Amino acid sequence: MRNSLPRQVSEASFNKALDGFGAIAGKVQVKTSAADLDSYRDPFALGMEESDASAAVTPASVEEVQAIVRVANEYRIPLWTVSTGRNFAYGGAAPRLPGSVILDLKRLNRIIDVNEELAYAFVEPGVTYFDLYAHFKNKGIKLWIDPPAPGWGSVVGNTLERGFGYTPYGDHAAVQCGMEVVLANGELIRTGMGAMTDNVSWPLYKPGYGPSYDAMFMQSNFGIVTKMGVWLMPQPDTALLCTAKFHHESDLELIVDTLRPLRLNQTIQNNAVIEGPVRWAAGVSTRDQWYQGDGAMPRTAIETMIRELGIGWWNLRFGLYGPSEIVDANYRIVKKALAKILGAELSAKKYHHDEPTGGGDKLMVGIPNLAAFQMLDWRGGNGAHIDFSPICPATGRDAVRQYQMVQARANECGIDYYGGFTAGTRHLHHVFAAIFDRNNIQHCAQVATLFKALIADARKAGYGEYRTHLHHMDQVANQYDFNSHALLRMSEAIKDALDPAGILSPGKQGIWPRALRDFKP
Ligand code: ADP
Repeated sequence: MRNSLPRQVSEASFNKALDGFGAIAGKVQVKTSAADLDSYRDPFALGMEESDASAAVTPASVEEVQAIVRVANEYRIPLWTVSTGRNFAYGGAAPRLPGSVILDLKRLNRIIDVNEELAYAFVEPGVTYFDLYAHFKNKGIKLWIDPPAPGWGSVVGNTLERGFGYTPYGDHAAVQCGMEVVLANGELIRTGMGAMTDNVSWPLYKPGYGPSYDAMFMQSNFGIVTKMGVWLMPQPDTALLCTAKFHHESDLELIVDTLRPLRLNQTIQNNAVIEGPVRWAAGVSTRDQWYQGDGAMPRTAIETMIRELGIGWWNLRFGLYGPSEIVDANYRIVKKALAKILGAELSAKKYHHDEPTGGGDKLMVGIPNLAAFQMLDWRGGNGAHIDFSPICPATGRDAVRQYQMVQARANECGIDYYGGFTAGTRHLHHVFAAIFDRNNIQHCAQVATLFKALIADARKAGYGEYRTHLHHMDQVANQYDFNSHALLRMSEAIKDALDPAGILSPGKQGIWPRALRDFKP
């Protein structure tokens, strides 16, 4: 049986549009069977909130993307763009508006340019972190990629969502430079220096001349990115992979306050990660080894788990990079700073190129891996997770406040606190993952209740999320409410100007085209 059609599109128009897509990309690149469309569903959906696509189309060139957009305009077909569709925990490849056609760009998968001298690459949306890593290995290119965990998605998709990784180039939006974008009317633009035909500085200098627009195409529905430049880190002489264990739950405040100056003065250059006990344990064990009851793991079970695994209540990972003299000196500085935290245990190992290490260590030296998926086994069954990711000021008092707020709510709803903080310089990404068994109706109901509460709690406390699951996009957008949602209204004005037919990713990040503004499924 065919999935439901886009809203207000007749069967006849829909069929004509699909014929048009087939004439452009080839009939076999238009998918409508339930089996094909299964791969575009949210693999971690809570069951009751599925948002199915009506079809998918997989073009192979920019010209095909432009032509598809023109047909979509003619028949008012909503297109939901994905690069590789691996945005798991935030919705996967599923569209916000049921019945949208997935514009799947995985066949645009060329590594267009890699420049070792100036340390950048230019890629198409279908290029994954694994692809780029393999390319560098094969060609002996001495540049690092910066994969997120897990690292199987695309460079473009992750960057557009403002994802992050764990080398010193971990802020993906910050290391992006230069874009090519198909607009809703099919027009092709290049941002920054790329607006000048054949300009050689396109991937080197972000602003260009006049207003700069790259950030406008991140977490938005204003265009379809078909090429992107990304700056890459030259392989450092030395990388020292460090971990520290802290034995008290109450250490969090001092950990964050000790880390902040070291991040601000660049002694620690990468996104250091502070992991809670369940987050660490879920990488090496399953929950039923420690607790078999319903509800959140009690404190006594957590303490036993910490003791038996030999981990800390809080566990810090970070890297030190550069010439060995500098790395050694920085290590001494960090050691001295952490010694102020009672009982802190610091250890470090030098990374030797090609030496295989654990998932977390690999990420800090730019090796993509899928170790993060181990967490799906934590509760057994059909393991899934949904992430709650508020931005936290990089102060101990805010970190403690967010931790206590999220942990209390999670436990109240019967969910373990699997979380931690990824330390930028002035902010922390606080990421809490609610792990559940999709086949367990009780779990799904608990997680649904929990998320509504968490998002509301954060707003009350003055915090906002940096990214959210499809089904919470409106709730979160609504919280950015300064001056009666002036920013959202500006986004809507841009949407109406660039995409009057409202065909590009309706509802993405709470931005709806005019015709659907009162609807919001
Ligand atoms: P991943 O790289 O993890 O596979 P996705 O392809 O799932 O990432 O993309 C994540 C989100 O980013 C999508 O849901 C979509 O909203 C947006 N996105 C991805 N690729 C593009 C693109 N080429 N142009 C515009 N938006 C995109």
